Amino acid sequence: MRYISTRGEAPSQSFLQILLGGLAPDGGLYLPESYPQISREELASWQHFNYRELAFSVLSKFATDIPTADLRAIIDKTYTAEVYCNTRPGENAEDIAPVRTLEPGLHILALSNGPTLAFKDMAMQLLGNLFEYALAQHHESINILGATSGDTGSAAEYAMRGKRGVRVFMLSPFGKMSPFQRAQMYSLQDPNIHNLAVRGVFDDCQDIVKAVSNDLEFKAKYKIGAVNSINWGRVSAQIVYYFKAYFAVVKEVGEQVSFAVPSGNFGNVCAGHIARMMGLPIRKLIVATNENDVLDEFFKTGRYTPRPQTKHTSSPSMDISKASNFERFIFDVVGRDAAKVRELWSKVDKSQGIDLSGAYFAKVQEFGFVSGVSHHADRMQTIREVYKRYGQMIDTHTADGFKVGLEYREAGVPLICLETALPAKFEEAIREALGRDPERPNGLENIESLPQRVETVDVDVEAVKRYVVAHAGD
Ligand SMILES: *Cc1c(COP(=O)(O)O)cnc(C)c1O
Repeated sequence: MRYISTRGEAPSQSFLQILLGGLAPDGGLYLPESYPQISREELASWQHFNYRELAFSVLSKFATDIPTADLRAIIDKTYTAEVYCNTRPGENAEDIAPVRTLEPGLHILALSNGPTLAFKDMAMQLLGNLFEYALAQHHESINILGATSGDTGSAAEYAMRGKRGVRVFMLSPFGKMSPFQRAQMYSLQDPNIHNLAVRGVFDDCQDIVKAVSNDLEFKAKYKIGAVNSINWGRVSAQIVYYFKAYFAVVKEVGEQVSFAVPSGNFGNVCAGHIARMMGLPIRKLIVATNENDVLDEFFKTGRYTPRPQTKHTSSPSMDISKASNFERFIFDVVGRDAAKVRELWSKVDKSQGIDLSGAYFAKVQEFGFVSGVSHHADRMQTIREVYKRYGQMIDTHTADGFKVGLEYREAGVPLICLETALPAKFEEAIREALGRDPERPNGLENIESLPQRVETVDVDVEAVKRYVVAHAGD
């Protein structure tokens, strides 16, 4: 399998070649040159696979330059009951991504049983093992530099801790994360994980990462890399659980199901789109946004207008003004016309809007996409209702997906709502909704009292560079 850029001006590459990089050299995102097609017969033969077998079946279509025995070993090491252990009573950790049925035709796909209690662990844990494998082959190393307001940074750190050849430098805003989130990240004592608390806000952290990455000489000399949501390895690993959930709910292979996906950078639902393009019988992909509704506006009108500012909400991991994976989807919408994507993104890159409300919009609908918005009050009400009706506590992001999902529920079509985090991560919002604290998974009850290891720095690019230089050889 070769990978091509959405902007059409970069040479095609293999899976391992694009694994450690970010954008293609022409500024685009990599996608497979064509989507592998899964026939009904092949699909039926996967029906009773466990998660590891399914992950191998899907990923071996994409990672064709990894010998099958190696890929199997990497997958078998990643998707274990020990890693995805934060199951609720009644769930089997061996399922890795268990499906909970609330009532006939209404399901939650539990994706947050990994170490950081969010769905990002599903792909990030695999990425950690893939990075170690790819770096070892060439005796290389990488310094991952990132900025986080919570979820991504901790998922990256728990995936990369102790990995040979990998060091992580993660910037987070000093005093802006919840005590739980801080404890999750800062209590890691692994020597290859470096937490830098920046005396500023998340945007300051992100600006520092951009400034360092734009210093091409520094970037090359210190092998600076990223693990952000455009990473193809992450997207490909997320395709697997759409298949997993499908088999868990259908009676017969061939039936259609719909998915509701709490969305921010469009990585998760983009994986659903690819599963559908591969032949998984998906009827609707329901995109849920919070108050940051740039994606909802697109799916309703065909106009995509990046916002000048992000609103801070109680589903913070969906607070985005521009969806970084959206270009992948639009590449398919415009019939894989790279010149058209270049034309459109010459605007998006300057934060200008684009209009695809004409002929292209039919394609968007043909791909099964619909959308809706969920506000703070909806979120609170949904958390309360789901708790009351089904005795299930869901987090704020999952609640956004659930609320919008129900708006598009159809009789006879199973609706699968993706759970993207556990409520324990967002205690304050749960207290507001339910007047009680969420339960914490075993072992995390006293995480705030563990010793923390964090370096506090000013909003100063040079200071961060000095820190990286001083620790890049450790
Ligand atoms: C990252 C994240 C999302 C958004 O996922 P995208 O792939 O960026 O669309 C939703 N919910 C939670 C809890 C997240 O951490």
